[in-house]
Amino acid sequence: MLNPIMSSYGPRQLQIERGDGCYLYDEQGIQYFDGLCGIGVCNLGHNHPSVTGAIQGQALDLLHCSNLYKNSSQDNAAKSLCDFARMDNVFFANSGAEANEAALKLARLWGKKNAIEYGKVIVFERAFHGRTFATLSATGNPKVHEGFDPLLDQFYRAEYNDLDSVKALAHHQDIAAILVEPVQGEGGVHPASTEFLQGLRQLATNNNWLLMLDEVQTGNGRTGKPYAYMHYDITPDVITTAKGLGNGVPVGACMARRKAAELFTPGTHGSTYGGNPLVCSVVSEVVSELSSNHMGELFNETLPILTERVLGLTELQQVSAVRQLGFMIGIELAHAQPKFLEVAAKNGLLANMTGPTTIRLLPPLIMTIDQVNELIDKVALSIAQSAKEE
Ligand SMILES: *Cc1c(COP(=O)(O)O)cnc(C)c1O
Repeated sequence: MLNPIMSSYGPRQLQIERGDGCYLYDEQGIQYFDGLCGIGVCNLGHNHPSVTGAIQGQALDLLHCSNLYKNSSQDNAAKSLCDFARMDNVFFANSGAEANEAALKLARLWGKKNAIEYGKVIVFERAFHGRTFATLSATGNPKVHEGFDPLLDQFYRAEYNDLDSVKALAHHQDIAAILVEPVQGEGGVHPASTEFLQGLRQLATNNNWLLMLDEVQTGNGRTGKPYAYMHYDITPDVITTAKGLGNGVPVGACMARRKAAELFTPGTHGSTYGGNPLVCSVVSEVVSELSSNHMGELFNETLPILTERVLGLTELQQVSAVRQLGFMIGIELAHAQPKFLEVAAKNGLLANMTGPTTIRLLPPLIMTIDQVNELIDKVALSIAQSAKEE
């Protein structure tokens, strides 16, 4: 019989039924350390009590009323999110790809406002921006493009961390914006250099382009700051985010500042679900939790130890390099280890590989010091064991 779920995800080995903090449990009750957080979503861990409380409380009042009406849950979430991200206003979407679609529409409007009929957007090799037609076209990964030609032609592609490759495009008169991840996540955890992001800011300002940051994965505390751009001493015009913003409820956001904040006018964009009372009650809770003193204190304790332990992995002969910004970690293996994920699962660890030699960790931000050690011990053990299985 045909599987009633379309096969876009391929076969899946594990069946997960329950979560609690840093841990997931399969149908037999076996415990796994969630080193991936549902792909960077459950930043506050699974079943966070105040998130669960917000969902329960809001469910008693109202789940949904559409954007035909004002609602205090949406008003509160917008205000706290814009404060947290230091932006002026927000459009609520339902996913990362949708948040990026909103940003791409802003870029088109920005172009038209500046007499560019068909404004194009500079994007980067190895980038990931989503799976809708516009966002897969913006993505710099041939595997994501495969089978979906022709792509949308509104993009110029440059090399990541190579400012000269962007300058080489600047003679085009039809550029409206740059869309870039501060750390490429799906592309293998590559942080932007300070010189690169600051250089993009300068180029965007000089050429009247919008600087749009895709913080779908890097936002919401993932890199140790509210948004990753805050490591770089720059101010973007547009930020998109999703993943950690809802800690598991589906929500996306496209935020804008100043000139970019006045481009949408009534009727130019919309979403039936976008920013409904349920998800917005969670957004407010997540933002309040991430801005709390106790999270700041926890980060001060755990981040230095996490960084030290991650660097220590380079002492393993199988590891050729590590890349890290806060809780985004890429471990580069000297040789492909196709058994790594299977061995890790046997050791009670869930992780991810973005390519044959790249392990990606996106652990919960709520880890204690003991849990940081547990995570890295399991990673090191699984690397050593799976190297022997080749
Ligand atoms: C995951 C991701 C997206 C897509 O988000 P969806 O919610 O899956 O649509 C876009 N950009 C980046 C950087 C991502 O990591």
